[in-house]
Amino acid sequence: MGDPVTSITIVGGGTAGWLAACFLRTKCAPKIKITLIESPNVPTVGVGEATVPHMPVTLREMGIDDQEFMRRCNASFKMGVMFNDWNVDRKGRFIRYMNPFASPPRIEGVEAGHYFQAYGAGNRDYIRSFSPLMDLFESWKCPFSLNKQGEDPMPRAGYAYHLDAVKFAGLLAERGRDHGIEHILDDVDDVELDERGFVAALILRETGRHPVQLVLDCTGFRGLVIQKALGEPFDSYADYLGNDRAMALQVPHPDPEKIRAATQSTALGAGWSWAVPLFNRIGTGYVFSSAHRTDDEAAEEFLAHLGDMAPPGAEPRVIPMRVGRSRRAWVKNCIALGLSGGFIEPLESTAIHMIDMGLRWLLQYFPSQDYEDATRDAYNRVSDGMFNEVRDFICLHYRLNNRTDDPYWMDSRTQLKISDRLEHLLDLWRHQLPTPLDVPSAHLFTYNVFTAVLLGKQVYDNGYGEGQLNRSFALPEKPWKAFLRQSAARNRAVLDHKADHRRVLLAL
Ligand code: FAD
Repeated sequence: MGDPVTSITIVGGGTAGWLAACFLRTKCAPKIKITLIESPNVPTVGVGEATVPHMPVTLREMGIDDQEFMRRCNASFKMGVMFNDWNVDRKGRFIRYMNPFASPPRIEGVEAGHYFQAYGAGNRDYIRSFSPLMDLFESWKCPFSLNKQGEDPMPRAGYAYHLDAVKFAGLLAERGRDHGIEHILDDVDDVELDERGFVAALILRETGRHPVQLVLDCTGFRGLVIQKALGEPFDSYADYLGNDRAMALQVPHPDPEKIRAATQSTALGAGWSWAVPLFNRIGTGYVFSSAHRTDDEAAEEFLAHLGDMAPPGAEPRVIPMRVGRSRRAWVKNCIALGLSGGFIEPLESTAIHMIDMGLRWLLQYFPSQDYEDATRDAYNRVSDGMFNEVRDFICLHYRLNNRTDDPYWMDSRTQLKISDRLEHLLDLWRHQLPTPLDVPSAHLFTYNVFTAVLLGKQVYDNGYGEGQLNRSFALPEKPWKAFLRQSAARNRAVLDHKADHRRVLLAL
């Protein structure tokens, strides 16, 4: 057994760096000294404002009170992601569907999706057939109540947050400093390697040589330690995902009384626009392909999409995106977290969650100062699995689009690569809906989530399958009809029980 690691040095003070500092401080204090070095000159990326339902757990574990967090970060609640205009229906009209933080129930042991596929749900879409989340979204409500008496009719559902990225990093930094993180404001100008090629020290512009044991590279897209110093290759995902640029803008709420409790992703001509509604503003942007639009063309299209929502003279900030990943996340005594480890476009708001998971895996596979190969390899295998899972799920959205109005959408469908795994799954799902056996190691994107996308995009109505799906064919209609009656009544009760999103935020 090697000597225990007694010091961790984090390079970078964005969301990745400060989340790492606070999380590890909570889990490893007081035995491990944590130092965070942050450049006073290199800004953080400053976006990344939508999260997934694990976030409330992580905040609690770090001892951060959720009400204080919400007030300080102008946070709001998120019930899922609304996808607008990614596909058209049989009549050529744009479709809106939700990827909700809720799982469908089983009816007599069979998932609702199979019945929906066999019999439909009248004028309700798939999500509305079992969940009130679409109705809450459309009524500007959230999954919480204000002083409602009586039993809560809401079926089990998760929630996440929308948050101000800069304020969130600030809150974490304050918390970290208060709890004993050593914080050095300085630039890392060079990285000193020892004879084995391990990082021995960081050379800081003002403070000089800083010896290290375990280093977390949280330096954003530049990957200062993992790529530049240790030379780990960056594997681009350009063959899989065509979007390589984004532009971001903050806009006021058109009506401050009305705040959506979901992220929105609206397909535009050469990519998609996000809208993340915070308490005090909306964070929005356009993720697009530079092969299909120049920055000027994209800005024009994006501002036209925003219409009156954009302040006069608004100039979106352009962010080049390095899409792909460090071939290995952990190399020698360095682990890359956040954008330095890799980035997949933010369609499902997974990046902060991947940082969170990277930290949890580090605790599972905590090294000694011998940095055993087996420990490192185990970590890298789990990290591979997560990147592949997220990449495949995002690829699915492009491969199954059926828009024909811009070469971008046709290229996304026909020119972009998908993994063998996804190819195989898509072949299978021509005949049946996804099952748990298809994605046994799913971490975020379970078979239910795949079903929500397939049915949301109405792919089976548009010739994707070959007639009736195998399982749906054998189902009786009676239990489904009874279920639909009950769920319609329950959706109405939930809508009545839950409160206006803004009022809930004001009451925090
Ligand atoms: P950064 O924020 O870039 O921080 C890098 C840090 O490294 C900075 O503090 C900088 O000063 C420091 N640094 C750099 N060089 C040096 C040096 N030489 N010496 C010392 N310090 C140095 N994620 C989500 O979860 N949800 C979303 O909705 C979402 N949307 C996104 C939208 C876009 C367009 C993009 C590009 C990303 C989005 N992300 C999203 C990802 C999210 O923004 C990042 O994962 C998150 O902000 C973490 O960034 P980071 O800390 O790795 O890097």
